[in-house]
Amino acid sequence: MTGMTSSSRPFLNRRLADFGTTIFAEMSALAVATGSINLGQGFPDQDGPEEVREAAVRALRDGRGNQYPPGPGVPELRTAIALHQARRYGLSCDPDTEVLVTAGATEAIAATLLALLEPGDEVVALEPYYDSYAACIAMAGASRVPVTLRPDPGQARFRLDLDELRDAVTDRTRLLLINTPHNPTGTVLTREELTAIAELAVERDLLVVTDEVYEHLVFDEAEHIPLATLPGMRERTVTIGSAGKTFSFTGWKVGWVTGARELVSAVRTVKQFLTYVSAGPFQYAIAEALRLPDSYFDGFRADLRRKRDLLGDGLRAAGFVVYQPQGTYFITTDITPFGEKDAYAFCRALPERCGVVAIPNSVFYDDPDAGRSQVRFAFCKRDDVLDEAAGRLRRLAS
Ligand SMILES: *Cc1c(COP(=O)(O)O)cnc(C)c1O
Repeated sequence: MTGMTSSSRPFLNRRLADFGTTIFAEMSALAVATGSINLGQGFPDQDGPEEVREAAVRALRDGRGNQYPPGPGVPELRTAIALHQARRYGLSCDPDTEVLVTAGATEAIAATLLALLEPGDEVVALEPYYDSYAACIAMAGASRVPVTLRPDPGQARFRLDLDELRDAVTDRTRLLLINTPHNPTGTVLTREELTAIAELAVERDLLVVTDEVYEHLVFDEAEHIPLATLPGMRERTVTIGSAGKTFSFTGWKVGWVTGARELVSAVRTVKQFLTYVSAGPFQYAIAEALRLPDSYFDGFRADLRRKRDLLGDGLRAAGFVVYQPQGTYFITTDITPFGEKDAYAFCRALPERCGVVAIPNSVFYDDPDAGRSQVRFAFCKRDDVLDEAAGRLRRLAS
């Protein structure tokens, strides 16, 4: 099979021709083939709270959600999401019209972009970007205009160049696609950066889609500020959340969209024809998870912060430049101290060299030079796994 018919037309449509297998599939296969520690893909190697898992079992046994649940999501979960937004951020949303449950944030991103974009529209997105953004923008027939996050001179964090952002907006720009806390750089956008984004959106009358799946994973002094809380943003912002990262159940695929009624209604129209509804029993379980006391969220954050430091120390000892993340599951590093420049080649060789798998950030850029020497490691793993990985990586230093 060549993927072509006799008429020589490729099976995969032209809009998606550039999107082959994701880097995560490629690197995870390499991890299996070489028996390496997989710090590539961002999933925890321990499940979330036992009471949340039990809540899913109870829902299954009690027959709640085993048949098609309501399209927008079960009322218990929509109410819990609305309460969460109100309690954490003072954002009020009507659970019946301003909340939509999706099959993970991945479906939320796809449905939102397919709903809001016309072919030919431009989307300004932060680069390096989460890999599904580019594919979904392409599916919508729109084009992406990257604004590159760059390490600041002290290399403390990646920052947004506000002039570059303003220059990226044209008459064809329909929306700004923002992600904070940001995967893969670990940057948490500051109030100053978010205010500038909001002012630009108001001035140029743009929609804003903001992926906040790591909202609970912020460390140190960093603070997660939802864009929807800034002046003028409530009516033009679609906020995307997910249970996967917050509760360590990435396989459950429970995500959501919140925003003004007209925006959520547009997204719901598309969601109906993608998955129709999302898996029922897990929705009841996540409704309970969102009501966990603050101690859960604080404890989880402290635990991940410790893991960040564990892996970060190991990476520094091995010789990497480490960009200290303020949030997410990930540490972005630079490999130039090893005399290497090509992150992709480095990641392909790393399993053979020391039995660890990582992800080259270069694949998340349109401008290949911008991230050529960056490599991402996930720290959402057991302490003994991180210790072992750090020990193996130290071989690079010798
Ligand atoms: C993991 C991730 C997602 C996908 O979330 P799911 O709920 O698993 O679909 C979306 N955006 C970012 C930035 C992510 O890291």
